[in-house]
Amino acid sequence: MIPYSTQLIDDDDINAVVKVLKGSYLTQGSKVDEFEKALCVYTGARYAVTFNSATSALMAAYDIAGIGKGDEIITTPISFVATSNMAVVLGATPIFCDIKLDGNIDERMIEKLITKQTKAIVPVHFGGKPVSLNKIQEIAAKHRLLIIEDASHALGSELDGKKIGSISDMTIFSFHAIKPITTGEGGAVLTNNEEYANKLRLYRSHGIVKKNFWNMDMVSMGYNFRLTDFAAALGLSQMTKLDKFIDQRNTIAEYYDKRFQGHKLFQIIKIPENEGSARHLYPITLIPSLQCPKEDIFSRLHEKGVGVQVHYKPIHQNSFYIEKYGEQRLTVAEDFYRSELSLPCNQKMTLDDAKYVADTFLEILEEYNLRGCTF
Ligand SMILES: *Cc1c(COP(=O)(O)O)cnc(C)c1O
Repeated sequence: MIPYSTQLIDDDDINAVVKVLKGSYLTQGSKVDEFEKALCVYTGARYAVTFNSATSALMAAYDIAGIGKGDEIITTPISFVATSNMAVVLGATPIFCDIKLDGNIDERMIEKLITKQTKAIVPVHFGGKPVSLNKIQEIAAKHRLLIIEDASHALGSELDGKKIGSISDMTIFSFHAIKPITTGEGGAVLTNNEEYANKLRLYRSHGIVKKNFWNMDMVSMGYNFRLTDFAAALGLSQMTKLDKFIDQRNTIAEYYDKRFQGHKLFQIIKIPENEGSARHLYPITLIPSLQCPKEDIFSRLHEKGVGVQVHYKPIHQNSFYIEKYGEQRLTVAEDFYRSELSLPCNQKMTLDDAKYVADTFLEILEEYNLRGCTF
């Protein structure tokens, strides 16, 4: 099976991890610092604070920003549930904003969702394609809201020459196995705000500061959300290859773009000139008349070794959210979910793999089309 996304681990990565395993510090050593520095250098952000997942990083970011009981965040339903779950955990309410045809939050619909309770806008760079941050910044400035980006798909993405991670109040990355780089599990918050960085470090590790000798002082509430040193060593090693990974994913994506341009049965999502995408996903959307047999297309592709996936079931359509907040209608997001397929696009693939995926996908669609695909 050619997976929609997957890690690429080589001997350098393995050796970097083994070296830490044979050393003195499995955790709380120097590798975490080194990895954080590498994230800052790469993105241009002033501070990076790593976590043991993007989920814990999101929780920390929301909490230290003061998002809690009675507050609202405006976010997208087309994301992994963790984006809004971590706000719910803190007692805040996620207000879901509908999306655009590229899967990203529709910035034109944000302003009318703002209330006195709104604290932050939380956009997600779907598949790695940057959201319209310029417009979101205008709205946030006008209403004094924070911008906390869930950039779990977007390490290496850029907008107008600036790397994602360097722009907003806080930006969260994920290093889960299949994200743009991996530490197995892991995440980070990037920020230019020193106070946030200090609070995040405390939050990650029991709220404890070291005084002298044995004396430590717990000054604020905290957790153990730390990344291990061997995971950080893997991250550090992966960082040296991030641009190569993205180049390869771009090669695959551009090949697809050429093959699929103007196809009558589905649409591709083009990345404009002023944007760079980490290409975590290669999403396409089927035309409405092809939407009903998506399960068939999905299983036919899997049978042929093409590991497509669907991103995402809109968060508000999960039972937990329906029970807590009632039924909501977000028509573009729901249509997107019905029509979206993520085709394999990962750094392990060769152009031959991409050709196989494209040939197989087109062949199956043509076959459905001949049979009359509204059945
Ligand atoms: C993967 C992902 C997360 C969660 O990341 P973990 O590191 O697995 O906790 C959150 N948001 C989005 C958009 C993701 O894709």
